[in-house]
Amino acid sequence: MSRRHFVETPVREDGQPVPRYRLVCGSCGCGETLGRQNFGSEIADSQVPKKFEERGWSVGKRRDGRDDLCPSCVNREQEARRRRLHVVQSEECVTVVQTTPSLAVVEAGKPQATAAEKPREMTRDERRLIWAKLDEVYVDEKAGYSAGWTDARLAEDLGVPRAWVSTIRDENFGPDQSEELQRTVAEARAVMAANTEHAKAVEALMQQGAALLKRAEAVERSLRRIETAVR
Ligand SMILES: [Zn+2]
Repeated sequence: MSRRHFVETPVREDGQPVPRYRLVCGSCGCGETLGRQNFGSEIADSQVPKKFEERGWSVGKRRDGRDDLCPSCVNREQEARRRRLHVVQSEECVTVVQTTPSLAVVEAGKPQATAAEKPREMTRDERRLIWAKLDEVYVDEKAGYSAGWTDARLAEDLGVPRAWVSTIRDENFGPDQSEELQRTVAEARAVMAANTEHAKAVEALMQQGAALLKRAEAVERSLRRIETAVR
């Protein structure tokens, strides 16, 4: 039987790589790190899942961690399961439950569900960490992110929920767009414009060709008339 094995990986805090235990949600991709713990590596395998589960995570059995779930995803899954058991419902209803978990929570009226649903507030350290990283990879309001960076990648890189990154970026930096993306869109527009121009040119040439052909046919006919007349 294979067991999950937990090791500390470096997470950047105040520009310094700091060893932390880290989980990434297999469903929504958000991540959370566990602050420095005093337990040694030999009991990490049992203590790390316990600590995360205390915070509302579901720690899966798979070794690659792809069935780990963050508290809001755990809650959403439980809610969906509860509804599948108790209510016969249409496709639309299922969609509503999945996209608006808060509504589902209100309807279920379970206080512990409300507590788990509410995302943890970011600490000052986390706020600083996200700010510093944005300062590094976000060019300016007009260009947006430098090549390759997005809210999602930054959140993944720092091991924080994506919503935190979006909030800080929106409030202090600019829209979620990137230089690279804008360049690609501009290039695509240029290619499409060139293509339209080319099509127009081809069309004009074809019309010229048709006109020429008509004139050639007319000339040929008069030539034949002249030939017949002189014979
Ligand atoms: Zn999640």
